[in-house]
Amino acid sequence: PARGERVLEVQAVRKEFGGLVAVNDVSFEVSAGEIVGLIGPNGAGKSTTFNLVTGLLPATRGEVRLRGERIDGLPSRRIAQRGVARTFQHVKMIPGMTVLENVALGAHLRGRQGVAAAMLRLERGEERRLLREAERQLQRIGMAEQMHELAGNLALGPQRLMEIARALCADPALLLLDEPAAGLRHKEKQALAGVLRQLRDEGLSILLVEHDMDLVMTLTDRIVVMEFGTKLMEGTPAEVQASPKVRAAYLGT
Ligand code: ADP
Ligand code: MG
Repeated sequence: PARGERVLEVQAVRKEFGGLVAVNDVSFEVSAGEIVGLIGPNGAGKSTTFNLVTGLLPATRGEVRLRGERIDGLPSRRIAQRGVARTFQHVKMIPGMTVLENVALGAHLRGRQGVAAAMLRLERGEERRLLREAERQLQRIGMAEQMHELAGNLALGPQRLMEIARALCADPALLLLDEPAAGLRHKEKQALAGVLRQLRDEGLSILLVEHDMDLVMTLTDRIVVMEFGTKLMEGTPAEVQASPKVRAAYLGT
């Protein structure tokens, strides 16, 4: 996507679970080459919003567009194919396989069901193609040296980067990250931030749920603040930090 192009448009999206309104007519956009933070207290509706974008959950109503085209209502596999990739809060990996194999296999399994069936169906040519792509993405984020290590031997920081490499294999336009810095050491957070800035500068759009406020404030271009399912405000990190209602609702000061 060209820089500045609207990559994601979320329009008046709503999700009800029985009587509970988890996401209450929320609208926001993410442009190409932009990192947008999605913050708010526990239960605010951040993960549900992610799940509405990726198609993991159907919206009660509202519209989601990727590069101008409706994606709400599509199966999550189709949404992934169109260029939406995500990582989860907990690292998903096979510890006894190498980093390279984990990235390649994860890329292959994206949106599919049944690990065993997928592995059995993998042809030699396809396997080589996946490994090449996995290697390319690991190099892209500076993990070439750890490619042949067992994934289970990596520290948490590199494991999270491994998950980002896996998400990048689908060549997404939009990357959704659910708390990528949770549990990381300071140095690992800095490495993560460096990789995300690089990807942004390469034109990727990133939507980031993150509780580490230092990271959110220094890394994002714009922040959407949610509370009780609604969008409380939206603005630059400076605007959000200066907002009395955000301080009252979220920062607790
Ligand atoms: P956050 O990620 O901001 O912590 P969530 O999106 O996980 O918030 O949750 C928003 C609200 O929706 C919470 O009250 C939560 O309990 C509720 N909720 C989330 N998922 C479900 C579900 N599958 N069924 C019922 N309620 C849910
Ligand atoms: Mg959550």
